[in-house]
Order: sequence, then structure tokens, then C-alpha cells
Amino acid sequence: MRVPLVAANWKMHKTAREARAYLERLLALVPREPKVELAVLPSFPLLPEAARALRGSPVRLGAQNVHPEPAGAYTGEVSVSQLAELGVRYVLCGHSERRKLFGEDDGFIGRKVRAVAGAGLAPVLCVGETLEERKAGRAWEVVARQLAGGLAHLDEPGALVVAYEPVWAIGTGVPAHPADAQEMAARIRAWLRERFGPPGEAVRIQYGGSVKPENAREFLRLPDLDGALVGGASLDPDAFWAIAQAAER
Ligand code: PEP
Repeated sequence: MRVPLVAANWKMHKTAREARAYLERLLALVPREPKVELAVLPSFPLLPEAARALRGSPVRLGAQNVHPEPAGAYTGEVSVSQLAELGVRYVLCGHSERRKLFGEDDGFIGRKVRAVAGAGLAPVLCVGETLEERKAGRAWEVVARQLAGGLAHLDEPGALVVAYEPVWAIGTGVPAHPADAQEMAARIRAWLRERFGPPGEAVRIQYGGSVKPENAREFLRLPDLDGALVGGASLDPDAFWAIAQAAER
């Protein structure tokens, strides 16, 4: 039984004061034992504040990025142990904005996944094709390559989560067609089963790309989707909670 995971990717939004107000509101909405797992992924400087606010609550803390090396001369970067110390559970690896704007490739992302899993945290490997790749009929080829590279160093899936996020659906207000998202999620699941055996079955697969309260149910009722990675709509605690409720089974 896969418990859906609904995660709020705040990207480079919110000050500490705004984060406090958001989390206060969110915690007023979320019951002690929600039927789905919720996670909030603030930017790095907000993590200590968010960790304090979420302590003792059912909402998990996540980070949007990490460097694969344990320590060293990597100015501006953050290590897994620094995240773990703050109580971070989930770490995005290979978000399409990192791939596109910061030149991250599958090899580098695979090292991040290894570092995160090696520290006992849960990597959220983000995969997804561009519109050109989809139009050219190459969507699965691209996603399969991202899975192979991103998971190259994992012997077992452990707490791995895969987020299927077609690039053209992120932040555009135009989500994928639910049938296409389900088809891709089923292929990802088959790939994970092939790669890891039965434990691959238990990996949660999220959909991400313009999920809103109005369309969340269309995605979250699909058999191979186990939650959502939400950007824009997650910036409002009421909208984020409405999306999480749509994931209840
Ligand atoms: C994301 O950044 O992972 C995302 C899915 O963004 P949005 O919900 O805004 O499309």
C-alpha cells in the first residue's frame, strides 16, 4: 500500500516571516493523522525556521537541492549531512529547473541520489521530457535515460520517490493529459520493477506540472500515481491542503 506524498516546492519564494505565517496556517488545517503524507520544501535559508515550526507535526520537511560531495571546497553548495541535521526527509534531485538553468546532467544527478539515499534520506528523482521531445515521440526514451542515469548507483530503491514532471507542464498552467501521465507512470513503474525487482513496485511516483486544487483529483485518482509535486499552487497553504485532500484514497 503506497501512501500518497504531496509535496510543496516553494522554489525561490518566501521570506522567513512569510514561511512562519504559511506553516502556522497549514498546521491549523492538517489533522494530527492525515491520510496522505505532506512535505514542504522551502529554500535553504528557511529550513531551520521551517524545521522549528514543523517539529512534532505530521508535515515533513524537504529540500530542493543538495551537492553530492559530503564536504569540501564547493562554495555556495549544501551537503546532505547539513540537511539531515535539520531534520530534512526529502531531497529533490534533478528538478528540470536545475537541469535546464544550472546545467545538471544525469551523471551529476545520479551522484546526488546516491548521496541522499546513502545518508538515509529520501531522494525525489525528477524526470520528464520537453515539449519538443514529446512531439518527436521521444518522451519515454528521455525519461528512461533520466531514470537510468539518476538511479545508476542505487542497489535498492529504499525510500526513493520518482516525480514525473513533463517540462512543458511546469509553471505554465497547462498540465499533462491525465491519461498521458498515467501511461508514463505505468512505464516508470515497470522500469523500476525490472531494475529493482518487487521493491521497485513500492516506489511512489508523483505527478508534477501545473497541479491545482481544481485539477488535482484527475491526477491523484490514477492507479500508478502516488501523489503530486506542486510548485505555484503550493505557495498558498489552503490550496496546498486542498490538493493534499484530493490525494486521499
Ligand atoms: C514544480 O516546480 O515541480 C512544479 C510542478 O511547478 P508547478 O506546479 O508550478 O507547475
